[in-house]
Amino acid sequence: METLVTKRTSRAVKVGNLIIGGDAPITIQSMTNTDTKDVEATVKQIKALVDAGCEIVRISLPDLESARKVRVIKERLKELNVEVPLVGDIHFDYRIALEAIKQGIDKIRINPGNIGSELKIVEVVKAAKQRGIPIRVGANSGSLPKDLEHLPRAQALAEAALREVRILEKHGFDDIVVSVKSSDVVETIESNRYVANVVDYPLHVGVTEAGTLYNSLIKSSIALGVLILEGIVDTLRISIAGDPVNEVIAAKKLLTALHLRKGPNVVACPTCARTVFDVESVALEVEKLVSGVQEDIAISVLGCVVNGVGEGKDADVGIAGVRDGVVVFYKGEIIGTYKFDEGLIKLKELINRILADKKAKHVNSF
Ligand code: SF4
Repeated sequence: METLVTKRTSRAVKVGNLIIGGDAPITIQSMTNTDTKDVEATVKQIKALVDAGCEIVRISLPDLESARKVRVIKERLKELNVEVPLVGDIHFDYRIALEAIKQGIDKIRINPGNIGSELKIVEVVKAAKQRGIPIRVGANSGSLPKDLEHLPRAQALAEAALREVRILEKHGFDDIVVSVKSSDVVETIESNRYVANVVDYPLHVGVTEAGTLYNSLIKSSIALGVLILEGIVDTLRISIAGDPVNEVIAAKKLLTALHLRKGPNVVACPTCARTVFDVESVALEVEKLVSGVQEDIAISVLGCVVNGVGEGKDADVGIAGVRDGVVVFYKGEIIGTYKFDEGLIKLKELINRILADKKAKHVNSF
């Protein structure tokens, strides 16, 4: 299914081998939560994120020692055939930024307004220019400048981010990605709209400190859903407390739901008194089976045939409960009635067949 999203025209910014903004599709980001100095743990987590579908990984660089590990982290990733741009998250200390750039970081996230003297800003800008790496600047609702506090919060947030942009522009630097971060959904939407109207730099969007899984999924889906449909998002992070792999899974599901990415769509009914098998466990099993799939495939899992006949026919493959077992649908047709266990085996067999067909078609198209 096509999506109706028309993306705003933003500048293209190169991060490693990837483009953010311009005509590029929305990229998925996440962030490690390991101690960056622990190279093996950090590399392991970056690999897990990339395996899950993450396209840009941010690592915290709280001190010089962490920044000095960037090169070795990149080398270890190369040995493992993991190719992903790394973004260094830096606060205040320009020496960390310089060290990270020297060590081969692909992008830095630092606010020039927090660096201190003009000389320090000039040095960071010069180093970033020499290596051709972009700088992400922005504002966070938790640390708004005092002199902007009289403004409505979303506007203050946007203006604080734009202030950082202007500092870089003043130093002749325009390889910029902008982010305005709030943990409030409405503030996130309004502040991003504001910035998108003023500058054409690509926007990194996400609800910050969105909370644990449920809270984040709801907040992030609303804010990102609205902004994606308005064409404002160039790259995104769904922030979730806990294992960052969940952030990637959620981001992929969001983009698939908006028809911006290919991926599986597992439809399952909410169950009721008519349900004849454990819909939830079958749906979870099916979701696991197709979790790494990057092709469109619609699978329906329905507790009975009351709605199942119609809905199952829209799916590539499906299963629905009947009095003595289940029926299995394949490409709009009921292909048989089975005992539950046999039906489940048939369902998985058909899913694998569809995936193999898609893979073969993909290979033949080259
Ligand atoms: Fe109930 Fe059947 Fe609808 Fe599932 S599909 S909720 S079992 S009526």
